[in-house]
Formats: sequence, structure tokens, C-alpha cells
Amino acid sequence: MGGLEPAAAARQALIAAAAAVRVHAYAPYSGFRVGAAVLAEGGAVAAGANVENASYPVGICAEQAAVAAAVAAGHRRLQALAVVSGEDPPAAPCGACRQMLAEFGDPRIYLAVAGETEPREAYWLHELLPRAFGPADLERKR
Ligand SMILES: [Zn+2]
Repeated sequence: MGGLEPAAAARQALIAAAAAVRVHAYAPYSGFRVGAAVLAEGGAVAAGANVENASYPVGICAEQAAVAAAVAAGHRRLQALAVVSGEDPPAAPCGACRQMLAEFGDPRIYLAVAGETEPREAYWLHELLPRAFGPADLERKR
């Protein structure tokens, strides 16, 4: 199940976009600031930061904010995501974010988990979320 790994310049641009938006993270409770950027088919980039809430479960992850921004801009197919948490080792997307990503791409979404500038780890979504539940599972019920 091979995917299309973005070119080095595109990977760096995605990481830069994630790092740039990370400064706007709203994380007064955890202090865990995260930025994410997704690359849509056609080359558009959408970014998002985590947004915490005093009612903790209401908060959203940076990856979800980035996906929502891409969808709001009209994109439905995502090819790659970069996430920058500034942690060492960097944090990979949580389970909910893996599921959200699976909706808008396929198992071949490329994920770069990065420090401030350099990719530290990279995965394909299917490696982090094997046998994902997705739109095709619901198609069978229609
Ligand atoms: Zn998450």
C-alpha cells in the first residue's frame, strides 16, 4: 500500500506552516502547544493549532483544526500532514486525529512528525491506524 511521499520542499513547507501556526495554539491548561498543516490534492496547505477549553473535552487538536480548515476551503482529499509539538521526541497524532484524517484521504496519507524545523519521524496513516473504519464501511449499508 504505497503512497505518494511529498517532495522534500513540500515536506519542509508543510512543517514550516505547522510551526508557524503553533504560536497561535490556545493551550492555557496543558501548555502543550501543537501546530499542524495538511497538504490537499492540488497543493493547497491548511493549518491549525490546538484549542483547549475550560471544559476539557471540548478542546480540539491541531490536526483536527487543520483538517477542518482544509474542508472549509473546499478540499476533500488530503495527501500529507505535518504536526509540530516541540516535544522531544515529537508527539504523533492521537487516535481521534488518525480517524479524522482517514476520512479525507486514504491509508496513504503521509504524516511527518516534526520538531520546530526538521522531520523527526514519518509514517503512513495506515501504519498508525491499520484497518481503519471509513466511508467505504458505510457505503455497504446504503
Ligand atoms: Zn488529536
